[in-house]
Amino acid sequence: DATIYYDDDADATYLDGKTVAVLGYGSQGHAHAQNLADSGVDVVVGLREDSASRAAAEDDGLEVATPVEAAAAADIVSVLVPDTVQPSVYEAIEDELEPGDTLQFAHGFNIHYNQIQPAEDVDVTMVAPKSPGHLVRRNYQADQGTPGLVAVYQNTTDEAKEEALAYAKAIGCTRAGVVETTFREETETDLFGEQAVLCGGVTSLVKTGYETLVDAGYSPEMAYFECLNELKLIVDLMYEGGLGGMWDSVSDTAEFGGLTRGDVIVDDHAREQMEEVLEQVQNGTFAREWIVENQAGRPSYQQLREAEKSHDIEVVGEELRGLFAWAEEESSESEGEDEK
Ligand code: NDP
Ligand code: MG
Ligand code: MG
Repeated sequence: DATIYYDDDADATYLDGKTVAVLGYGSQGHAHAQNLADSGVDVVVGLREDSASRAAAEDDGLEVATPVEAAAAADIVSVLVPDTVQPSVYEAIEDELEPGDTLQFAHGFNIHYNQIQPAEDVDVTMVAPKSPGHLVRRNYQADQGTPGLVAVYQNTTDEAKEEALAYAKAIGCTRAGVVETTFREETETDLFGEQAVLCGGVTSLVKTGYETLVDAGYSPEMAYFECLNELKLIVDLMYEGGLGGMWDSVSDTAEFGGLTRGDVIVDDHAREQMEEVLEQVQNGTFAREWIVENQAGRPSYQQLREAEKSHDIEVVGEELRGLFAWAEEESSESEGEDEK
């Protein structure tokens, strides 16, 4: 079973006298940088000269430098720019890493798929909050924690894990719990999860359900509510009480129908396809496809995005969400809920 670390397992003194360079001030960057600073850690934010994020970081009272200057000043370089630009940013700062410095990530893609190959004399770690950055910041300010992951890829100092845990503590993650993992496990489960279930699987399930109802002559509005809008209520129940909590809350008819029909929809064929998707994650096929897609300027990605935007369910949904102001009120209320 996985090891989980809490505040008492993390020793903040491993950051004493160290400077952290946070490269990027987006979703994760702004949260890590501000939480570290509020925890008393020396932080310098690394942004390109013309960065649109520069003003925000300065307004938040942080020191801002270029990525190269920040890395030169730092003992720990936290790489929080988008995954697709990390290799080129790394190339620029590589020479600033001294023996014993730490290169740190919040996702394992570039290390696991060898897009970044760090020198052997630096520590390479991961501290990955399992949450969007704005919640990492908000939870910290509310004296709450955000669950996270910690992993060590390279440990030249013998203190890589202790230092990563100190960092996790400083951004508030050990308040909630930090699960020990590896770069490989984090990268592969993350990619599989978002492809098969969270982002890919769920949107396809929603669209196919919607199309089936509309093709059979039901109104798009009804199909939208049944297949998309209500999903949130079901997911909230699962989040709070697992599958059992959800089954307990829906009607017996819904429970019996779901238990008898669910496996008919996600059948052995779907399972084989999931295994295939996992294999493409494991053997690097997906990673190569995504790397090449980026090198080519993202032609397929743009096309797929456009197609998704113009799907009927999006057009109908936008209208309906505009009409039903209560939906908006409800979603902003639930955003403020405790994320634990
Ligand atoms: P963002 O897309 O929010 O990062 C944007 C920041 O990166 C901006 O400050 C931007 O500055 C800067 N940036 C972009 N391109 C460059 C460049 N070429 N050179 C220098 N700076 C650049 O990233 P995320 O926070 O979403 O992701 C960061 C890491 O965290 C990734 O590894 C991601 O996988 C991981 N992660 C993300 C989570 C999330 O919820 N978003 C959750 C857990 C992990 P500018 O204004 O100059 O463009
Ligand atoms: Mg240095
Ligand atoms: Mg993910």
